[in-house]
Amino acid sequence: MIVPEERVRLGIIGGSGFYDPDFLSRTKEIKVYTPYGEPSDMITVGEVEGVKVAFIPRHGRGHRVPPHRINYRANVWALHQLGAKWVVSVSAVGSLREDYRPGDFVVPDQFIDMTKGRSYTFFDGPVVAHVSMADPFCEHLRQLLIEAGKAMKLQIREKGTYLCIEGPRFSTRAESRVWREVFKADLVGMTLVPEVNLACEAGLCYASLAGITDYDVFAEKPVTVEQVENVMKDNTQKAKEILRVLVRELPPEPERCGCCASLKNSTI
Ligand SMILES: [Zn+2]
Repeated sequence: MIVPEERVRLGIIGGSGFYDPDFLSRTKEIKVYTPYGEPSDMITVGEVEGVKVAFIPRHGRGHRVPPHRINYRANVWALHQLGAKWVVSVSAVGSLREDYRPGDFVVPDQFIDMTKGRSYTFFDGPVVAHVSMADPFCEHLRQLLIEAGKAMKLQIREKGTYLCIEGPRFSTRAESRVWREVFKADLVGMTLVPEVNLACEAGLCYASLAGITDYDVFAEKPVTVEQVENVMKDNTQKAKEILRVLVRELPPEPERCGCCASLKNSTI
């Protein structure tokens, strides 16, 4: 049972390197049970700038859960159950283009799904749903994230196609070239799908805040684990500040927002 004081306005899903809910105050850890099993970890409910927020580390604290084993349905369902209307998904990604540099942020507007065997839907029958994914992200929330990044004078890219690979391995050189030259994708990561489509099915306003940690292998720019970790650490601090600025402008409920909220039109 979710008690009223645990109900939140915003859900945040933390990616690689982002496990610590230290940007929340008045916190409480809760265990949420879902029909789809257990979320990646306990959920921290707290406040940012007086707004109720729930935080879940996508990989669990200490990075215990690899991308292909994440219970995306339980994570999204848990945030939905807590009353979140908005969800920001933070992730660490590789860049597929020279001008999107490590340390930059991207708020993707499109994705390409190259995952292979995940649980993609809440509707496994008898109710069947086909949600529209033409514009997969909430445009309202995207704009709020972009404005927050700009207000902080960060390099925040307003568009990008996120290509989601199955993982846990990285791409081969040949794959990386295909993603970049044939598919024209801008970023590569392992976790956006099926989180984004599940959020859509749940009627949540969802956007992704992708922090670039390095260039993908096409660039032939080898980096050390230490270099990637340093950028990731820096990106995580910046992401927390972006979220803090975002929350100040976040309306209690999505207004005039048509994104994915029309599921009733999608069930057959
Ligand atoms: Zn929306």
